[in-house]
Amino acid sequence: MPAMKTLENKVALITGAASGIGAETARLFASPGAKIAVADRDAAGGHKVAAETDGHAIEMDVTSEADWKRAVTATVETFGGLHVLVNCAGIELVKSMAETSYEDWRRVMSVNLDGVFLGTRAAIGVMRKGGSIVNISSVAGINGFSRQVAYCASKGGVRLLSKAAAVECAEAGLGIRVNSVHPGIIDTPMAQEILGTVEAKMRGEIEARWKLMHPIGRIGRAAEVAQCILFLASDASAFVTGTELVVDGGLTAR
Ligand code: NAP
Repeated sequence: MPAMKTLENKVALITGAASGIGAETARLFASPGAKIAVADRDAAGGHKVAAETDGHAIEMDVTSEADWKRAVTATVETFGGLHVLVNCAGIELVKSMAETSYEDWRRVMSVNLDGVFLGTRAAIGVMRKGGSIVNISSVAGINGFSRQVAYCASKGGVRLLSKAAAVECAEAGLGIRVNSVHPGIIDTPMAQEILGTVEAKMRGEIEARWKLMHPIGRIGRAAEVAQCILFLASDASAFVTGTELVVDGGLTAR
């Protein structure tokens, strides 16, 4: 279904929209009639994506309650409402349990889980019937992975936060849906950053291992995740709430 029809007359706020999956989502959502608020802590990157998508750039830190208030208010004042929130901002941490300091743990929880809580709560406060919240978790929110204790815990939290919010919104008759998306390894700056932390001679081996992890035989593309986010954001998924959409080339099917 073309984005033009599915998000016509809708206002979407996307966090982490300066890069990777969030930026691809903003590009896919951009169409005549759809209004996009491009939110990120990377102001320059956010302005670039906003210019490409005819969107409105909002510099924000998703861990700040005050920033959420400002971002939601700016979106409503600029575009007249809020119909879709995509909580995509996130950070990775590849460290063993022993290497993970409490400060590391708190930082990952703060961005990946507190940020999604603050955003979901702020959006529910202004959304009307037909609203949709899409929270980006990970396959690491379903399965455990070595050297990712904080990341897995934060993404597992996003999965159940989304289900609890979905049930609460539905039972309260708010007409707001909440779902989570669980990508496998996706070729974005985040994945490249992880590769950058390993010795150059090991990178080929890691990339080969990443491909083998996915039965489809390759890692994913940001645009492929964006298509799934679009489905959950749009009225095409009107009877879908509290679910987890896995986009992982079969990784978790094994
Ligand atoms: P990315 O390319 O690194 O983009 C993430 C964006 O979020 C960046 O622009 C980043 O800004 C921004 N951000 C980080 N912390 C923020 C904060 N506190 N406030 C506002 N913005 C913040 O990552 P990606 O790969 O597209 O990942 C997007 C989401 O998908 C994340 O939640 C990630 O955990 C999830 N995911 C990714 C993969 C993957 O393999 N790529 C797999 C599963 C799930 P800075 O550049 O300044 O940090």
